[in-house]
Amino acid sequence: MRILLVEDHQAIREMIADHLRERGFAVDAVDRGERALAAARIAPIDAVVLDLGLPDTDGMQLLAALRAAQADVPAIIVTARDGVDDRLLGLNSGADDYIVKPFNLLELEARLRAVLRRAGSRRETRYTLGGVTFDTVTREATAFGKPLDLTRREAALLEELLRVPGQVITKDRLEDRLYALEDAGSANALEAAVSRLRRKLSSAHAALSIETKWGIGYRLIEAEAR
Ligand code: CA
Repeated sequence: MRILLVEDHQAIREMIADHLRERGFAVDAVDRGERALAAARIAPIDAVVLDLGLPDTDGMQLLAALRAAQADVPAIIVTARDGVDDRLLGLNSGADDYIVKPFNLLELEARLRAVLRRAGSRRETRYTLGGVTFDTVTREATAFGKPLDLTRREAALLEELLRVPGQVITKDRLEDRLYALEDAGSANALEAAVSRLRRKLSSAHAALSIETKWGIGYRLIEAEAR
């Protein structure tokens, strides 16, 4: 799940981004509208969390611009304004939810999962292949119905591989995705995560295999298809 966070207050932005990354979301955190639009152009986003008062635009106008590019992207407005009129404005602008500062990070996370879940009824949030199912909202993986105990990094890796089964994903892309979660690891952190995930898939008898394409990257295939 890729979340676009737009907040010009540095401490608040970092606090929200750190929390969401810890919970397994990939977060693009930016401080102004122009950068939000640029980030949205690079890759589709699963939800946007945006501050109403931004230095170069109004959160409402930014939301309209983001929606012009990606029609039904779920949005939560975060703001210090707590007047009823602003609240109505937020919901009328098409935001899916509205949260007033100061707020609890767990509450923001719960609301974010709720809007993602509602959006998920409009599109797929669950991947299934080779007996393995991964829910991109709850971050839970199962193999033949039994829970797979994955770290955040392993879950992010599995999600990326399941997104495009059979296709090679470059190491650079996987590293970007994994390092969005936490500080850059050692040079072979990706290789280490791949081998741990392979072991876990294999001990759960998942009919999945992660192929190494030397010098390029990895791809996920159904074991029967080998
Ligand atoms: Ca602000």
